[in-house]
Amino acid sequence: MNYMNTALLNCIGLSYGELSLKGKNRGQFEKILRSTINKTLDGYEFKLNEDLSKLYIDIKNEDMDKITEKLKKIFGIIGLNQSIKIERDDTIIKEKILEVANYAYEYGARNFKVAVNRSNKGFEKKSMDYAKELGAHILINSPFEKVKMKDPDILINVEIRKSVYIYTEKIKTYGGLPIGSTGKGLVLLSGGIDSPVASFMMAKRGMRINFVTFHSFPFTSRKALEKIKELTEILSIYTGKSRLYIINILKIQEEINSKTRKEFATILTRRAMMKLAEKLSHNMQYQALITGESLGQVASQTLGGLTCTNASVEKVPVLRPLIGMDKTEIIEMAKEIGTYEKSIEPHEDSCVIFAPKHPATNPKLEDIIFEEKKIENYNEILEEVFNEREFFNIE
Ligand code: ATP
Ligand code: MG
Repeated sequence: MNYMNTALLNCIGLSYGELSLKGKNRGQFEKILRSTINKTLDGYEFKLNEDLSKLYIDIKNEDMDKITEKLKKIFGIIGLNQSIKIERDDTIIKEKILEVANYAYEYGARNFKVAVNRSNKGFEKKSMDYAKELGAHILINSPFEKVKMKDPDILINVEIRKSVYIYTEKIKTYGGLPIGSTGKGLVLLSGGIDSPVASFMMAKRGMRINFVTFHSFPFTSRKALEKIKELTEILSIYTGKSRLYIINILKIQEEINSKTRKEFATILTRRAMMKLAEKLSHNMQYQALITGESLGQVASQTLGGLTCTNASVEKVPVLRPLIGMDKTEIIEMAKEIGTYEKSIEPHEDSCVIFAPKHPATNPKLEDIIFEEKKIENYNEILEEVFNEREFFNIE
């Protein structure tokens, strides 16, 4: 139960966590974080301030909780404090803390604790001493009769910087690193559960994310594409602006289907997707490909399968953030980030159309390459398919 008088709140404090470890890069990270905050809160009345190397957002006439919800989705922040910002003045601090205490008592709190954190050594009183002084002030001037050090009904934090911030709750957020601070990646996005979660995870690690999806129109429908677009829109809450590339690989699938051994069809298709994604990464300077693969999940994701898929990419790393996760963990995360409901809507998958009944579970790379070579002019076909790509921008 939070007994804070929300009418008094006028500021949100941000904690960065990992950002503070980055030494020389800190300035750069902070710049990106600031610009992300400015974009995220576009249209709201707010002011971004730094107070002794911590960021604060002054808010007037706006819904504190709505803004908090938005800030929660920004990577690079580990915690938020909805705060009362006041001048650094003993009388004002005592007045305000009493107001907070009286309100909390009225709404049911029966014991409290005051914690003082003094980053500004210019403030003459020591943290411990000042916490006691404020505690005594509340005991004398409010109905409270009891201080409780462990698990108090209300913990009143007083943070002393250039200004003073009073807050009672720490809101935990995702952490991670600000978008764009660690590079640019291309997610191979299917309509399934896994690849949206993989997108979230790499965005959380600070990557600017774009997407590519492969379809087999007219064997797969326009509606299936709509679903993928909707997934990217949900993900844009986290990724910000992005782009979705769409490539029709039907021509390649027909070649694979008519010229190579049935049990290798899935792996060969997966290799084609990787090759096309790598072409796109050369064109658009993506520094990594990202997939939703998880070890052992399906036949194409055994170590043998992954070896064959991996070998089709030459110059960029393939990141597989879900590789060690169980399906149940992935599903839980998909629900948490809001992609699950969309992902489980039925759709035709471009791979399933030509999927073999009995896919090879442990393919050998040399066999796969032998089969792939049966497709004449394969590079030209890939090029042709690549050149017919389309794209959409997601705002
Ligand atoms: P997902 O739930 O992400 O579809 P999956 O468990 O169904 O994954 P596969 O279908 O084997 O696994 O695909 C493995 C990975 O290959 C996907 O996570 C995705 O990154 C990529 N992929 C598969 N199909 C497509 C597609 N049609 N377009 C783009 N990427 C794809
Ligand atoms: Mg899939």
